[in-house]
Amino acid sequence: MSYQALYRVWRPQRFDELVGQQLITTTLKNAIITKQISHAYLFAGPRGTGKTSAAKIFAKAVNCHHQKDGEPCNKCETCRAITAGRLNDVIEIDAASNNSVDEIRDIRDKVKYAPTQADYKVYIIDEVHMLSTGAFNALLKTLEEPPANVIFILATTEPHKIPLTIISRVQRFDFRRISAQDAFERMKYILDQKKVTYEEKALWVIANAAEGGMRDALSILDQVMSFSDNHVKLADALLVTGSVEKQQLTAYFSQAAKGDSGAALQSLADLLAAGKDGHRLIEDLITLIRDLLLYRESPELLKVEQTGLTDEQLSSMVKDTTPEMLYAMIDVLNETEQEMRFTTHPNVYLEVMTVKLSQVDQHPVAQQSAPAADSQEVDQLKQQVDQLQQELNRLENSNTTKQAPVNPATNQVHHHKSNKGRQFNVHQIYPILEKASRDNLNRVVDLWPDMLSMLQPIDQGLVEFTKPVAACADGVVLSFDQAFLLERANDSSLADSISKCFSKLVGGDFAVTFVPTDKWPQIRQDFLVAHGYLKGKQKQSPSQHQPKASQQVAVQEEKKSADNGVVGKAEQLFGSDIVKVEDD
Ligand SMILES: [Zn+2]
Repeated sequence: MSYQALYRVWRPQRFDELVGQQLITTTLKNAIITKQISHAYLFAGPRGTGKTSAAKIFAKAVNCHHQKDGEPCNKCETCRAITAGRLNDVIEIDAASNNSVDEIRDIRDKVKYAPTQADYKVYIIDEVHMLSTGAFNALLKTLEEPPANVIFILATTEPHKIPLTIISRVQRFDFRRISAQDAFERMKYILDQKKVTYEEKALWVIANAAEGGMRDALSILDQVMSFSDNHVKLADALLVTGSVEKQQLTAYFSQAAKGDSGAALQSLADLLAAGKDGHRLIEDLITLIRDLLLYRESPELLKVEQTGLTDEQLSSMVKDTTPEMLYAMIDVLNETEQEMRFTTHPNVYLEVMTVKLSQVDQHPVAQQSAPAADSQEVDQLKQQVDQLQQELNRLENSNTTKQAPVNPATNQVHHHKSNKGRQFNVHQIYPILEKASRDNLNRVVDLWPDMLSMLQPIDQGLVEFTKPVAACADGVVLSFDQAFLLERANDSSLADSISKCFSKLVGGDFAVTFVPTDKWPQIRQDFLVAHGYLKGKQKQSPSQHQPKASQQVAVQEEKKSADNGVVGKAEQLFGSDIVKVEDD
């Protein structure tokens, strides 16, 4: 007989065998005992926590004529047919592979026929969040008018992707991660039954590596057992588990802690390529940091063997970090977790997180207290306001200046080139600024959501990190906060794609170019100098002339009515910024 995977052989056939979900199994058993069965259930939770097993046990219990205390007998023909997947009335659908509207319409058409072999027809729709909007709408119609003797069990790892209209029509159960303790106990039980000996530490290592999934725990146990048939050794468990993911994770953390963002980004790519879930990665990093803090403060409280790491690894990571760094890192991780909640492109957020984590030690003052960061920001804004005020003052006095032709020599100076490639190109930016206006920028902002909806999925990840900062009728300047994302945008077809979308929206050609956010104020000023609106250094010092923002706005209004072309130009470019400072 060929070898059968542990998780198949030991798949729970009764609610009692379902590990770590007692609250749910008790509730479901009571529903069967008291015959208070809902027509639709949602089983939500991480993978490998027993959702589909529970669904199949429920399908059996509800149809088994010999059920006892809410448990199926597993012996009658109905139970055995369901276990084997050959009962026509229990229909399993994997939404990941059948996500078309037609599939669900098919259900809608057939659902009205009574069950043929069993009492209840049970539809189990796995990974239900993968359904298309159209399919959800078709499913909703069925849930709104549920036929008699039909039960829907929807299972998902990502309940937040399911429309609220569906959620409101189902009874929801949240399956939690299996605790390491529960996974440990279950493996112990199975090995005892199989008369296989084991080192308990090995089972702990596996239980931790499984990350709350019982199926994963048994798969790893299978691999460890393949090293030696009748004995599970710690060394083998470490070889199978520790060597892969935990090592990748600690490598990633160490690289970020040392400020090596390039290496950390590569490790991140490896982790994601290996199928690591982003949210789980953040949780693991927080756990790792918590372990490091504990190890630093009171190592005796940390059960090192349960971390899956060695003393050497822990002490080396502790050496590379300070508690302040670790707390700042937790902040970055929490922020990213929040931001990622509503995006369909989590990977770019994880990359930004990686760069931020790598920069944590470079600004020790800024992280330690939020007010320090705020006042720093305020200082920066004050400086910008001063700078802009000076420009306005000077413009007021030079009302005869006409638009100067672009000075190629000046342009050359500002044509920056980074080591990895150009960051921005004034030859693309200046033609847009020459015709820029606030109305055009507002129009681009208004059209932005339409543009996003037209963009190909491949471009949607990066575009979440850029925003329009200047626009003319047929072009826009977009800024990126993160240099590495700007570089990637420049290397990609993003500008072309955005350009095509705007062309369709406004008609005619549309230019798109990128700038780094931190260099944008300088680029604008250089533009004014290059076009003769400004002549280098100002006579007035910033401290001598610091009117309040409201006064500045008043000055602007005055200028507007004066209809001075040059001033109008500056106002087009800078006016909104000054008003914005006042708002802040
Ligand atoms: Zn039965």
